[in-house]
Amino acid sequence: MSKLDPMASMQVVTKCPMCDFKYDKSNIKVVDNKDGMITLYLNCPKCKGSVMMVIMAGSFGITSVSMISDIIEDDLNNIEGNQIEYDDVLEMHKFFKK
Ligand SMILES: [Zn+2]
Repeated sequence: MSKLDPMASMQVVTKCPMCDFKYDKSNIKVVDNKDGMITLYLNCPKCKGSVMMVIMAGSFGITSVSMISDIIEDDLNNIEGNQIEYDDVLEMHKFFKK
């Protein structure tokens, strides 16, 4: 499996799920990028909503799981290297069962 290009994956994530604001590259932060899994943090300048997004490259192509986050940008330093607990585990299960 070749390494995912974070810039390419950003095309998957273009709009804020809350207000439809079109993200700029500067609103998107790559938190983690390893083992074919990219974790992105998106911060919407319009509604101030933040979204965590996990993009996975599997044998079925690229799958993305996003969740509304209440993490503010400053907290990113604290969560780095730690296990992030996702509400969207169910969605992940569905993906892996396929
Ligand atoms: Zn927004």
